[in-house]
Amino acid sequence: QGGADGLVTAATPGRVAAAWLHGVRLVPPAPPHPLPPMPVLAAARDGLLTREAMLAALDAAGLRGLGGAGFPAARKWRAVMAQPGPRHLVVNADEGEPGTFKDRWCLHHHLHRVLEGMLLAAQAIDAEACWIYLRDEYPEARHALATASAALCETGVAQRPIHLRRGAGAYICGEETALLESLEGRRGYPRHKPPYPGEVGLFGRPTLIHNVETLWWLPELFAAPEAAARYAAAGRRGQSGRRLVSLSGRVRKPGVHDAPAGITALELIEECGGGMQDGHRLAAYLPGGASGGILPAAMADLPLAFGTLDHLGCFVGSGGVVVLSDQDDLADAARNLVRFFHDESCGQCTPCRVGTQKAARLLDAPHWDRALLHELAQAMADGSICGLGQAAMNPVLSLLRHFPAEALP
Ligand code: SF4
Repeated sequence: QGGADGLVTAATPGRVAAAWLHGVRLVPPAPPHPLPPMPVLAAARDGLLTREAMLAALDAAGLRGLGGAGFPAARKWRAVMAQPGPRHLVVNADEGEPGTFKDRWCLHHHLHRVLEGMLLAAQAIDAEACWIYLRDEYPEARHALATASAALCETGVAQRPIHLRRGAGAYICGEETALLESLEGRRGYPRHKPPYPGEVGLFGRPTLIHNVETLWWLPELFAAPEAAARYAAAGRRGQSGRRLVSLSGRVRKPGVHDAPAGITALELIEECGGGMQDGHRLAAYLPGGASGGILPAAMADLPLAFGTLDHLGCFVGSGGVVVLSDQDDLADAARNLVRFFHDESCGQCTPCRVGTQKAARLLDAPHWDRALLHELAQAMADGSICGLGQAAMNPVLSLLRHFPAEALP
């Protein structure tokens, strides 16, 4: 589990070396890769964009971590900066949340913008090195990243080594502390927090960890003095900013969409998704991937943003919106999600390891034992170390809470 055994380093001039689980093989030397200009990074290097200006822009934009947790980016940066060096910058590209594929879109279509954002953040916190932890199921992105990282190092643009690591298919390694364990060469078990990675992170050093999309936004936010305020003003219904939404399910045009924070599911379906597929009527939607819960069509007019769905037991997380129709079996959807969590539980703690297994069994019964499901969900939420176990029952709980009993087993 974990991918520290799969190493691709771009720090070696002239070639890219890859050490794999089953021996060592060399990836052929990358062809010359013309690096497009990185004007915002150049401004930072020339002293025209200071660290203070970057922090002020993050504050003005209200940018939050877009991997799912939504922690304010500026606070994260300040926490890392307050610690003595050396510091590390880690890019979480282990995108594994069901229904979420926007990081892949960023890497495929705007790779250099992601790398520019990474180097801007690295410069701001004076990182000794950058570490990219990439989902192994994105092989094209891996080759492009290896090539571009090598070029950045060879031309001196990076000013620090860039290490590219492959994940090995473990969903849990997208959890930031499991990711750190994996990077350090151990099994991807989430760590207890505190201490947080900003204080004690990679190899015990203060570490800034950002999701791909969060870094993707940085060049735009730092490009001009008014850019951050413009970004913040783009939100709807009092929410700040924009984000990339992965829209899938029963819509005509599934895909990645740049949407304002506070947009509703109905607006997303109509404005971005081209409406529902022919013959399908909206029945429900997942506002935030596998663990963000399931809401009925009657609640499709709620603003989608960090914190707006908490009172319903749901959240937007990584921005994966899955649209379900009257032809989908909601109980089956919940069963499928809980089985997924059972498969992906790292097994470190009992409430999650045993709880997800028991939940999957309970959901297979012809009649759901509601009291027992609630009791189990509470035990898992209270006793699990990380978010996987704590939120694994969200699909079930939200169905029980928001849908009529006669619609469920
Ligand atoms: Fe592992 Fe689940 Fe415990 Fe998280 S909650 S540490 S995934 S067993």
